[in-house]
Parts: sequence; C-alpha cells; structure tokens
Amino acid sequence: MNDTLCTDVLSGLTTGIELTYLVAAALFIVGLKQLGSPATARRGNIIAAVGMFFAIIATLINQSVINYEMILVGVIIGSIIGAITAQKVAMTEMPQMVGIFNGLGGAASALVAVGEFWRLLDAGKGVPFDATLVAILGVFIGGVTLTGSLLAFAKLQGLVSGSPVTFPLQQPFNIFLFLSFIAGSVYLFINPANPPVFLGLVGLSLVFGVLFVLPIGGGDMPVVISLLNSFSGLAASAAGFILMNNMLIVAGALVGASGIILTEIMCKAMNRSLVSVLFGAFGSAGGTVAAGSGDGTDKNVQSIDPEEGAMMLGYARSVVIVPGYGMAVAQAQHTVRELANQLEKMGVEVKYAIHPVAGRMPGHMNVLLAEANVPYNQLHDMDDINPEFEQTDVALVIGANDVVNPAARADQSSPIFGMPILEVDRAHHTIVIKRGLSTGFAGVDNELFYEDKTVMLFGSAQDMVSKLVSEVKQL
Ligand code: NAP
Repeated sequence: MNDTLCTDVLSGLTTGIELTYLVAAALFIVGLKQLGSPATARRGNIIAAVGMFFAIIATLINQSVINYEMILVGVIIGSIIGAITAQKVAMTEMPQMVGIFNGLGGAASALVAVGEFWRLLDAGKGVPFDATLVAILGVFIGGVTLTGSLLAFAKLQGLVSGSPVTFPLQQPFNIFLFLSFIAGSVYLFINPANPPVFLGLVGLSLVFGVLFVLPIGGGDMPVVISLLNSFSGLAASAAGFILMNNMLIVAGALVGASGIILTEIMCKAMNRSLVSVLFGAFGSAGGTVAAGSGDGTDKNVQSIDPEEGAMMLGYARSVVIVPGYGMAVAQAQHTVRELANQLEKMGVEVKYAIHPVAGRMPGHMNVLLAEANVPYNQLHDMDDINPEFEQTDVALVIGANDVVNPAARADQSSPIFGMPILEVDRAHHTIVIKRGLSTGFAGVDNELFYEDKTVMLFGSAQDMVSKLVSEVKQL
C-alpha cells in the first residue's frame, strides 16, 4: 500500500515537473518573440527570466538531485559574479561579456558529457552507442565553444592581438586534426570503454576552439560570438540528451536557433557570407587614419564649429540623427536625446535612423537610445528611413562611419561594396561628428566626408553634442 502511494506521488511529481517545463518553454518562446522589438524587449526579458525561474525550481524538485549544498554554493557564487559583472560592464563591452558566458555554458555542457561517460564506465556495464555518440557531440561542441569563446573574449578585450592569425598549411593542419577526431570517434564507437581515446577527443575539441577563432579578425568577433552562442545552445541540448532533461533540450535548441538567426542577420546586414567572416581574415578593429580619398588626389573636408552646426540644426525643418559606434564609445546617447528635445521644442521634426549593424553588436543603438528614453516611434529602420533622406534638411551623423559610406553603393572595389547603408548623402546637408578622419571597423575611407553637402564637426561625440545643445538653446 505504502509502495503504491510512493509510486503515485513520484509519478505525480514527474508529471508536475514536465508540465512546469512545458510552461517554462512557452514563456521562453513568448519572451524571445517580445525581444524582437525595442518596445516589448524589457517585458520579453522578464517573461523569459520567469520561465527560467520555473525551470530551475522544477529541476531542483527532481528526485535525481543528490547534493543540494553544492548547488546552493554554485548558485550563490554564480549570482554574485553575474550581478557584479552585469552592473559593471560597459555597453560597448557587452559582446565580450556574452562571449565569456557562452564559453562557461560550453564548459558546463562538456563537463556533463565527460561526467556521464565516466559514470557509465565506472558502472562497468559498458557505454552504449547512443551514450557514446551524445558524449562525443557534447564534448566537441562544448569544448570548441569554451576555448573559442575565451579566445574571442581575449581578442575583444585587447588581451591578445585582434589581428587575424594565419600560418602556413593552416587549412591542411586543421583538416588533419579533424580527421584524427573522426578516427578517434569511430575507434571509441567500436571500443567504448577507452578513457585515453575519450580524453584525446576532449583535448582535440579544446584545440579546435582556438584554431577556429585564431584566423578571425577582432572586428568580426561579434559575429563569431553570436555563432558560438548558437554552439553553446547546441552543447546544452546535447547535455539535455545525456541527462534526459527535456527542459535543457528545448532551451538549448532555442539558444542554438536564435544564435544562428542572429549570426545570419549580422552577416546579411554587412553583406558578407558566414564563410567569408570565418575564413576571410577580414576587418581590423577600425581606427586607421585614412590617407586622403585613396585615389591619389588630395581632397578637402569642410570643418565647422558647434555654433555653425547649431544654426544648421535649429533652422532646419527636419533632422535625421544617425548614431554609430562613436556615439556608443562616447556614451553620448543622453546628450543626443537632450539635443533632440531642444530641437523639437523649436519645431524641428527629429527622427533617428538605425542601421542593423551600427555599433558593435546587433541592436546596439536601440539599446543605447532606449536607455536614454528616446521614444520608440522616433526610431526608424534603414528600409523605412532611406526613402526619406531626400526630403531631410539635415542628416546628423554621430560617430557612424561604415554604415553611411556611399562606397558600399557605388564602388565595386570597396570591401564593403553591397553592404546596405543609410543614405545620408541624399539629404540636403550632412553634419558628421567624429574626432578625425579615422576609418571605421572596415578600415576604408569614406567619400561622404569630402562631399560638398557634408560638413565635419570634429571632436568627441559627447563634447560636440553638448556644445550643440548649449548653442541651440541660444538661438
Ligand atoms: P564604424 O564604422 O566602426 O565607425 C565608428 C566611427 O566612430 C569611427 O570612424 C571613429 O572615428 C568614430 N569615433 C570613435 N570614437 C568616437 C568618439 N568618442 N566620438 C566621436 N566619434 C568617435 O561604426 P558604424 O558606422 O557604427 O559601423 C559599425 C561597423 O561595425 C560596421 O562596419 C559593421 O559591419 C561592423 N560590425 C558591426 C556589428 C554589429 O553587430 N553591430 C558586428 C560586427 C561588425 P574617429 O576615430 O575619427 O573619431
């Protein structure tokens, strides 16, 4: 009688856990959907976090948890580190923070795979084919994600050089290592109880992560980090199969799918294929000084001061603000909103034009402008705003460079040819705020700066925009 009661309680508990997982998965999906728009992104984040809370509680209730103390210690340490880093990290450093979190996720999944393989070995009943397969996959994806993400973090943080690292016979060497991995895996399927071979595969996976990221330039790291994010999801899914945990499988698949979609969006917005990002050794971290126009002729730029800039803006009917990486570095978003408010008070119509890869991570500008409480309805996507530039009096470019470079439209020899741009050169006048004539991420000169309709306001974005605010107030 007692046994029956016990079985009923356990089966009820399992059903309850699975139902909670289902609710959590639904919350993740709704949360992800809402993250797609700046207007609903905060709510989406909270909904997904609530889903994660349910998932964690349901997992802790699971009967197979054997040590709550260790979990508690992990939760406390992890929460403290997470809370402090989230508070401290600057928005421009977000890609490397995501990178390091991906790496740790990959490490956790690889450790689950190693632990399960060892548990089955110790049990002495052999390692079944499916368990070996999932363990190898978990170790491979998790290992590549761990070391690849750590190297990506180090490149972005400037701890190692951001330049692409290539060496002779690199591809044949990589292929040789990969074939060795395949051979080791096949051997393990035939002789599963073989710890040295399994550990060899773990070592190779870690080496692959480094070799994968080594030839990619620092500027392309955000794309790589998005791809590694997708890998970390796949590694979590593999861990879910190992632990027979449906929640982990679903959550990992969602991360895997959204990571790859984001990677695709970034590549498309740069008009580059993923293959060229991974193997093209393209991109500096930006910041080289452009040598004239690059065609051997000396070109002049027209420089103005804040007072002249304020006159152009204050007497315009319509102004489109185009923010870029420089605005993010200077943290000028609050001052930019102040300028927009001031112009609106004077009857100027103000809009913001958002390029999908402005800055260094997708949605970078949306996040910064939302932080400065810029109304969402003033933010306009590239496709919506481009037809409006011809009727715009002044396009105010703040720390953007590549995303407004007309060479992407006209110059077939340019490395950024074909990348969709914000067509500020079609506006009646363009004011560009930047510190000098340095190139942006792609390392190419920008014809826009030398055009007759363009004037340059040289200086740091924060300094120049606040000077514009005070000058506009005096009009
Ligand atoms: P950008 O082309 O990198 O140019 C940024 C400009 O900001 C620089 O030319 C720099 O010129 C200026 N700048 C730097 N600090 C400044 C400051 N304190 N005040 C004012 N200006 C400052 O930026 P973007 O136009 O935003 O384009 C983004 C680039 O990153 C694209 O090429 C894109 O493909 C690439 N990318 C983006 C992502 C993403 O997800 N968003 C991912 C990977 C790659 P000075 O030094 O002369 O001031």
